[in-house]
Amino acid sequence: MPEKNIDVLRDHIKTYDADGIIRHIMSEYGQRAVIASSLSIEDQVLLHMAITADKNARIFTLDTGRLNQETYDVMDETRRRYDMRFEVFAPHAEDIEAMENEHGPNLFRESVEKRKQCCSVRKVKPLSRVLGTADIWITGMRREQAVTRSLIETVEWDEANGLIKVNPLADWTTEMVWSYINDNNVPYNRLYSEGYTSIGCACCTRAIQDGEDARAGRWWWENPEHKECGLHFRSKK
Ligand code: SF4
Repeated sequence: MPEKNIDVLRDHIKTYDADGIIRHIMSEYGQRAVIASSLSIEDQVLLHMAITADKNARIFTLDTGRLNQETYDVMDETRRRYDMRFEVFAPHAEDIEAMENEHGPNLFRESVEKRKQCCSVRKVKPLSRVLGTADIWITGMRREQAVTRSLIETVEWDEANGLIKVNPLADWTTEMVWSYINDNNVPYNRLYSEGYTSIGCACCTRAIQDGEDARAGRWWWENPEHKECGLHFRSKK
């Protein structure tokens, strides 16, 4: 998909709300569109919109092998509620074995570099496998979530993966997300009831304190500007 098509897409959806954007992408791209889900509330909003628009919408999740049980539980609940299935992508066993043999199971605590190495093996590499089957991917990223996300656009070129990335909820507030979840009775991860505001690996995510931003519970031992796992690389351009 050439980058120049971004402008066509941007122009086409500029007056659409999130639901309209999803419907347009589902009808234009079909099975070449994929929706990323970490089982966060944002991703559950997108899933509800997508499955309502197209029963066969492709929703993928990255099973890093270190997710919370609550995340697996809401995955199951969602499968039953919508009579759908997630496309699950997992890291290759030999990559995990090599990494843990060399650095141990908790390398992510030792340095930002080793944390990114773990994210690369468990998330970025599996992501590149699924994105190799798509022309466009959709995420639940919002500008309000963190300093690392304050400049995201609704439609972007994903330079690292070579395809269009769409963030239909870029300008949504947390209140808007929860209203949608409640109004549509969408299943959500029990971790939110325990103070979590972002969903990731169990060992690298905790509940947040009052006044912290939504991603403060991710890799809480690092500085805020490092808090991305490599899935959402943005060019400095
Ligand atoms: S979030 Fe933590 S455990 Fe999960 S892939 Fe990244 S460093 Fe590894």
